This record gives sequence, structure tokens and C-alpha cells, in this order.
Amino acid sequence: MKGFAMIKIGEVGWIEKERPVCGPMDAICKPLAIAICTSDVHTVWEGAVGERHNMILGHEGCAEVVEVGSMVKDFKPGDRVLVPAITPDWNSLEAQGGYSMHSGGMLGGWKFSNFKDGLDSEFFHVNDADGNLAHLPDSINVVDACMLSDMVPTGFHGVELADVQFGDSVLVVGIGPVGLMSVAGATLRGASRILAVGTRPKCVEAAKFYGADEFISYKNGPIDEQVLALTGGKGVDKVVVAGGDVTTYEACIKCLKPGGKIGNVNYLGSGTYINIPRVEWGVGMGHKSIHGGLMPGGRLRMEKLGALVASGKLDVSKLASHVFEGWDYVPHALQLMKDKPADLIKPVVKFAD
Ligand code: NDP
Ligand code: ZN
Repeated sequence: MKGFAMIKIGEVGWIEKERPVCGPMDAICKPLAIAICTSDVHTVWEGAVGERHNMILGHEGCAEVVEVGSMVKDFKPGDRVLVPAITPDWNSLEAQGGYSMHSGGMLGGWKFSNFKDGLDSEFFHVNDADGNLAHLPDSINVVDACMLSDMVPTGFHGVELADVQFGDSVLVVGIGPVGLMSVAGATLRGASRILAVGTRPKCVEAAKFYGADEFISYKNGPIDEQVLALTGGKGVDKVVVAGGDVTTYEACIKCLKPGGKIGNVNYLGSGTYINIPRVEWGVGMGHKSIHGGLMPGGRLRMEKLGALVASGKLDVSKLASHVFEGWDYVPHALQLMKDKPADLIKPVVKFAD
């Protein structure tokens, strides 16, 4: 089979590989559509998870099942499925401890395009099919379905990690597709005021649609100063970080109220340390915390998030700004994600309707 791969840090290309083998609890799927992720850019061009050779890229998409193992109960060939970016081993101790995304070790649930071949190929392998796949509701088209792999679950996880409550004021740093879903999640959770950081006009427009009230540009000076100016010096109750770099947390601590929580889903591709400002951290006693986490996978969560889209309560259609058809467009879609033109939110390549 052919697949689009990371050849080594900084280099991508088409490769040929054997079709993966299906274990008793596994499934082999063929993609119906795939989406490109900013994480692919960190992985390939920043070498953020280290060197990888001939690893097929991609961890976002929906698919048709072509083969299942003898122990798989709920899926059969021909089923159309949502594929989560994170596919934990559900019988691991970490999963039993509530951290399935770290099954087998830190970030161990992130298998596709990390330490196993991903979705950008004619066929791909899914471990623990009953635990990880979810049926694709008929009412969700294949492009929107791709947003359920990573953008919705990750953006929403930032909101969960920040513990957004009814009436909270929330700062969302970064309004790419992940941050847009954090804005949507904060709105669904009842935030009273959402300040959003980001400049690309298309993202700003989408953030307004999802419920952002005011906008801040990181290009116009420190974020914390702008937030404090907008909040009468008080700061915000919660922060979701879905963009920026290792310096972003310092600004967030500075404009967070005592007792505030920062939920981080940004993938830090470079830098060594994160600085916490001593005084604004309440000289160690401010009850200000940072919770950073990889999105949880799992069929139950996928089905619940899918139900939100199927019911019309969450409209993800604003995210896929560039939709292509056919394998030839995969390299172009990845290049777009690297270049981030002003009108880009998320590139999707579909192979079926
Ligand atoms: P984008 O690059 O599309 O968006 C990044 C956002 O951050 C943009 O709004 C950008 O603004 C803004 N930004 C850029 N620089 C700064 C800065 N210095 N300070 C503040 N804001 C800044 O990314 P995605 O939405 O696709 O992804 C966001 C992050 O989430 C990525 O790092 C990605 O790898 C990560 N991720 C994490 C996952 C997880 O499970 N934890 C899963 C999937 C993704 P502008 O409008 O100017 O471009
Ligand atoms: Zn992703």
C-alpha cells in the first residue's frame, strides 16, 4: 500500500509499505477523509517528538472498516467509523488510573503518527477496535467527521482542564481550529465572557461565531497587559491555552485571578523551561494552577461528542476551510498547514462522500 510519510525530520514523501496485520482485537480501516494537524508540522519540521523514519503521517480522519479481528464485537467490515487521534490500550494500568491517554507511558495513547503508522495511507491499523472506534452517525458528513478526531476532543479538553464553570470569564489563547473548539466548549459550558487571542481574520470571524466576545492580538504587546486592561485590572477566572509557546504561561499566570486554572492543550514543539512568575503566582500561595493534557480518546467520549454534532448543538462546519478530493492533494494539504496562509483554518482531503 502507499502512504504519505515523514521520511526523517524535515522531509516528507510517498512510501510503499506492507498492509498492516489485524490482531484479534484490532481493525484495519481505509480512510474516507483525513485532516492535517498542526501537530504534524511540529512532528515533521520541529522534530518535536524526536527522529522518525518512514512513519506514515496522519491521526485525524474517518474511515470504513475493511477487516476486524476475531474478538471484535461491535464493528464489522463496511461500517463507517469515527477515528480518534488517541487510541489507548484500555487494559493498561494507566487507563485504569483514569489516564488512558498515557497508557503504557507518557503520551502512550498517541500512537498514530507518533510511534505507529497513521491514517494518511490506503489502509491503517486500529488497536482495541471496540474501545477506540465509534460509529459515524449518518447525519455527519465525512469532512465534519474529521473534526471529531482531534479538534473537538482537544479543544474541549482544554476547557475541561481549565474547569470552566457557569458564568466564568475565560481567556482562550490561540484561535486556530483547536482554540476555536475551546471557545465553542467554553460557550457550551456557560462562560459569561470569552476573550480570545489570535489574528487571522478567518479565525477571528469563526471565533465570534463560536462565542468569543473580545479579541486580543499577541502582536500588540503582552497578552496579560491587554487582558488586565480589559478586565479593570482583575484578570480572568480561567485560561485555555491552544497556541503560543513556552513564554505564554507567564502571561497567563499574570492575568489569572487567584484560584484560577489554566488548561493547556498546546503542543510545545520547542523550548526547555516554562517560567512561573513568583509574585503573580501569589508568592507560591495564589491557588493558580496549570493543567496540561493530551486529549482523551475512547469510544464513549467519541460517541458523546459525535452526538453533539449530530444533534446540531455543535456546528463544526466552520473549521474545514480547505477541502480537497483525492490522494494527490495530501502533500499540498500538509504544506498548507505548515505555511498557514491567512485564510486557512483546517485542510481536509476526502476520498468519498
Ligand atoms: P494554529 O497554529 O492553527 O493556531 C494557533 C493559534 O495561536 C493562532 O490563533 C495563532 O494566532 C495563535 N498564536 C500564535 N502565536 C502566538 C503567540 N505567541 N501568543 C499567543 N497566541 C499565538 O494551531 P491549532 O489550532 O491547529 O493547534 C493548536 C495547538 O494544539 C498546536 O500546538 C497543536 O499541535 C496542539 N494540539 C494539541 C493536542 C492535544 O491533544 N493536546 C491535539 C491537537 C493539537 P494567529 O491567528 O495570529 O495565527
Ligand atoms: Zn491532530
